[in-house]
Amino acid sequence: MTRQMYVVGNWKMHGLSADLVEVRAIADAAQSYTEVETALCIPALLIERAVRAVPGIPIGAQDVHFADKGAHTGCISAAMLKDAGASLVIVGHSERREAQRETDDEVRSKAVAALAAGLSVILCVGESLSVRESGKAVATVEEQLRRSIPEALSAADRFAVAYEPIWAIGTGKVASTDDIGEMHEAIRGQLEAAYGATGSSVRVLYGGSVKASNAAEIFSVASVDGALVGGASLTAADFIPIVEAAASAR
Ligand code: PEP
Repeated sequence: MTRQMYVVGNWKMHGLSADLVEVRAIADAAQSYTEVETALCIPALLIERAVRAVPGIPIGAQDVHFADKGAHTGCISAAMLKDAGASLVIVGHSERREAQRETDDEVRSKAVAALAAGLSVILCVGESLSVRESGKAVATVEEQLRRSIPEALSAADRFAVAYEPIWAIGTGKVASTDDIGEMHEAIRGQLEAAYGATGSSVRVLYGGSVKASNAAEIFSVASVDGALVGGASLTAADFIPIVEAAASAR
């Protein structure tokens, strides 16, 4: 099963109008790597402007509410993201699971709502350092995934899972290639158990301090289908070498 490499930037709470020049620089450079699907998840307020100004790259959000509409002050629905021109959304990022106390149930509802609205979804899972040190990382992530993913999946091409060990996000620490491979294979097993043959097509990305200097090694793991990149996605200079490494990996 060949899955197209997928490299997605997560700008988190970084980005003002002036930074649209970086969106353009990334979009322009990424066009040279047609074998890689490249996308950027930027602050919600910039989505519509980025989509209008830079048509060359899929633009996404970093969260979505699970309801269609209603009394949810400050929240953004999947239909609103679609309306603004977004084509994808991240759900279940550990920063939201922790700071906003998002549960697996909510993450699942968000994924279902986003898929139903026609968005692509990147659903994040990952263990804490204490869980990793206790030797229960695989079992914990399997359980988190089982509780977070939609029960049925019709569009494998619009659904990806990002394995992001919490202790590796923004810390400069990266999981070993052996640990990444073991976890990605466990995730693949879960996806196939849940979705049958469709589960074989779902891409599984790695996230956690991916940068130009380590991307090729991470992408050398056969079960890694790309990366979710935080800090190193903010500029074309840092991000494009990661896209290039993905292009060279397969
Ligand atoms: C992320 O935000 O999903 C992430 C992996 O961040 P960083 O690359 O900065 O560790």
